[in-house]
Amino acid sequence: MPKRKSVKHKFSIPAQSDPRITTFMYSVRLDQESAPLVWQQIRSARKLYNDIIAFMRQTYDETQVFILDKAGDEAKNLNSEIEDLNKQFKIARADQDDAGMIEIAQLRLEKRRVLSGLLKEVRANNKNEVKAIFFDKIGLRTSCGTYQIRCQAVNESNLGWGTANDVLARAIKAFQSRIKVGQPPKFAIGSEKLQDSLWIQFTQAGGEDIQSLLSGECFGFALRVPDGGAGRRKYGEFRFRLGSAKNKDYATGTFYYNRPIPEGSKIVSVALTRKRIGSAFKYSIQLVTELPEKAGAEKSPKTDKFCSLYFGWARGVGDEKISRNFMALADQGNPNEARLFFLPESIEADLARVKDLKSERSQIRNDITQKIKQGEIEIPFVSDETANDFEAIKRLPATYISPSRVHRLCHQMIEAKIPRPDGLEKWRLKDRALHQNIAFIRRRALFRRRDFYRVTACEIARKYQTIVIRSLDLKKAMTRLDTTTGEKSDINKKSRTGQRLVALYELKTSIMQAAAKEGCVVIEIKGEKTATTCAYCGKENLVASQEDWHLMVCPDCGAKVIRKKNGAAVAWQFAAPVIDDLVDEARSLAAMQEEKRKILKSEKTEKAVAARAKNRAARERQDATGTPGGSRA
Ligand SMILES: [Zn+2]
Repeated sequence: MPKRKSVKHKFSIPAQSDPRITTFMYSVRLDQESAPLVWQQIRSARKLYNDIIAFMRQTYDETQVFILDKAGDEAKNLNSEIEDLNKQFKIARADQDDAGMIEIAQLRLEKRRVLSGLLKEVRANNKNEVKAIFFDKIGLRTSCGTYQIRCQAVNESNLGWGTANDVLARAIKAFQSRIKVGQPPKFAIGSEKLQDSLWIQFTQAGGEDIQSLLSGECFGFALRVPDGGAGRRKYGEFRFRLGSAKNKDYATGTFYYNRPIPEGSKIVSVALTRKRIGSAFKYSIQLVTELPEKAGAEKSPKTDKFCSLYFGWARGVGDEKISRNFMALADQGNPNEARLFFLPESIEADLARVKDLKSERSQIRNDITQKIKQGEIEIPFVSDETANDFEAIKRLPATYISPSRVHRLCHQMIEAKIPRPDGLEKWRLKDRALHQNIAFIRRRALFRRRDFYRVTACEIARKYQTIVIRSLDLKKAMTRLDTTTGEKSDINKKSRTGQRLVALYELKTSIMQAAAKEGCVVIEIKGEKTATTCAYCGKENLVASQEDWHLMVCPDCGAKVIRKKNGAAVAWQFAAPVIDDLVDEARSLAAMQEEKRKILKSEKTEKAVAARAKNRAARERQDATGTPGGSRA
């Protein structure tokens, strides 16, 4: 077993989720007249999101131009050479010249590397200037352009300010995560959204007392619980303010009160959520709640000390059944005793169905473009734009024509009121149906996967005192991909990796939340060595088996072991000698954080009390003298 000192540095203690913050969700029947008002708010919120994204993208473009300008002639020349290569690449692609494509891609990659090196230097040298001119435009401060767009939506479109804050926060999060990979954030497409939420936030320090919501004292949001409390077939009433206070627009209805909110709870914020299920909408309210001290302390008794988890979504060749696991759990050092976790088959079946529908979509795309190319379907002249698209379809091989290009042709005809050729219209309807079907099944599968993760995470967190997980490194995964060339496969690889990472982060989040809820400590272990160390002999020479990607082979002791089982067992072995120290450290960190939180909270309350006193004094002065003074809160 490895010595304690040598492994200590591999561990870190992540910020543990707050166990006292929990969400109460109730399904809702909305009063008929409320639905259009809710829709209006959702529409304004979606518009605000894309307005902010548009502003961010523009800022991003301006920054690029500014930096290139500063970088001088060498960088400018490189940039135009890269643009030329982009054109050449497109031509090679159209000619299906694979060798040419690879050659151009490699040349372009070389130039991009040099350029990004130059730009990096310029960026570093002009850091403050870039920040001052451009990036100060993006943020939550009142001087930021993004914040001003948010205010405009509140003032001019009557969007509720809680919702506007949520939209701004989401846009900034999207910006931050995209800018890490050197890209501006993307627009959201309303018709593809399955869920929208409107928010009311309570500004009171620590949240609004549940009592004031129940008594109707709080104007933003009120609840009336049914007589006899929560239970089966118990319905209460609610009122949720939409937009500004002066408009007096409310969403009202009944909610199913199946789970009581403990007395003494504080409500931090409330969301009214609309989910699309097929062609219908389902509504719910969610109360983000801080439980009173004692309620958070109930924890399940643990039967086991600690386990280690090894995540992974990568699929390879080899045993089909084994390839569908997403995690291994070890609660001892022997990899053979480690447990593999699999997704339910129905979710797998849905994901497989998505794949089939996608290939069906490609098939009908191939058919329609073939017919257009051969003149079997004639495309009438509508505008120069249609003529261009038509030319492109004739020139490009089918695999490079996106269905949206053909849809664009159709839409121009629809707008110009020109009847579509029969075959084209048939394709349009069929492709649209397929697209919607794919989106629906995919989302449904992803929702169910998330639920499955939650249940699994709870089961583990109830059993063990401590969970050791391998940390996930998004940045590393991205750069590893960056070093490979071969344009076509690269893009596919990137998006596949992205999807896998999303799934793994979701799994990790579920574990963190379940752990917090069940009073279980989470420790992170850095990944590298857990993947290459042999759980049997401890040497670091494990290699993937040639015939089965999921098996690892040890050249030193000859062991053959399933990759994830080995990883989990090795993580367990590394953690075992130091686990008590790590748990102590995590506990004292948590105690420190709790202390800090309490101080912050009391400071906030003091500030609020002081501000109220100041305002009161100002009002009294005004009453006495008749001159205005101080601002009313
Ligand atoms: Zn070995």
